[in-house]
Amino acid sequence: MSNPVEQQNSIARPVGIRGIGLHTGDDCRLTFLPAEADAGYLFRRVDLPGKPEIRPLAENVTDTSRGTTIAADGAEVHTVEHILSALSGLGIDNAVIELDNHEPPVVDGSSRPFVGVLREAGRVTQDAPRRYLVPEEPLVYSSGTAQMMLIPAPGPLRLSFALHFDHPVLRSQYREFVLDEQRYTEEIAPARTFCFLHEVSLLRKAGLIKGGSLDCAVVIGDEEVLNDNLRYADEFVRHKLLDLIGDLTLIGAPLRAQVVSLKGGHTANVGLALALRRRLGLAA
Ligand SMILES: [Zn+2]
Repeated sequence: MSNPVEQQNSIARPVGIRGIGLHTGDDCRLTFLPAEADAGYLFRRVDLPGKPEIRPLAENVTDTSRGTTIAADGAEVHTVEHILSALSGLGIDNAVIELDNHEPPVVDGSSRPFVGVLREAGRVTQDAPRRYLVPEEPLVYSSGTAQMMLIPAPGPLRLSFALHFDHPVLRSQYREFVLDEQRYTEEIAPARTFCFLHEVSLLRKAGLIKGGSLDCAVVIGDEEVLNDNLRYADEFVRHKLLDLIGDLTLIGAPLRAQVVSLKGGHTANVGLALALRRRLGLAA
């Protein structure tokens, strides 16, 4: 039996969310808008003259040091990964993301708030089949101590992630995930971003995490996690999967493959996405 053809979909109506950015601390209103079939994702800075648009593709990434920043047409948007992760996790193919500032609201540091508003928006099925990208050969990418492997595999996107830190509170975690809307919503979307206490003052000195607090990130102290509760015992590796799902959308099409990440982060995720786009002749 062959699978029925999957149709593309978009949201049924615009929905918005407001809050401060994790790194800049600036207030931002973000609005998800419906988009045509085959439009993909598109960011639009409505606060700038001419409302410049930025396509979230790997070749438009300009920084991966703490989050994924994209830029085009003289405009940039920081920390796009949680937004893109929510869209991809819910299987939404086409959407415009409007912002009136340069960094989306961090909200609670996870993608659950975005999943919430996107579900409120409802869904429209579009008159076009979903066009998967199905790699035929493996691809290996490494950056520093991070190693990424993309392996041809049938069916939905399969992810495996291993993280390791030389830290008494967070040592090693491993988790596998097969992309599915319900499972994304329950197992991945609530996982919050995290950082180590010893990094906080360094990040502040670098002008980052101006919007950071225990309300929007898990902070790992030298002997314990400083937040009252974790949402999952392995919340850290689940958040790494959340980021990976978001960054893999920078390939520009939904992927049918297996991706294995050993100690990956934004730099490695984006590097793999760009390497794949180059191999397919989609990027210079
Ligand atoms: Zn993240």
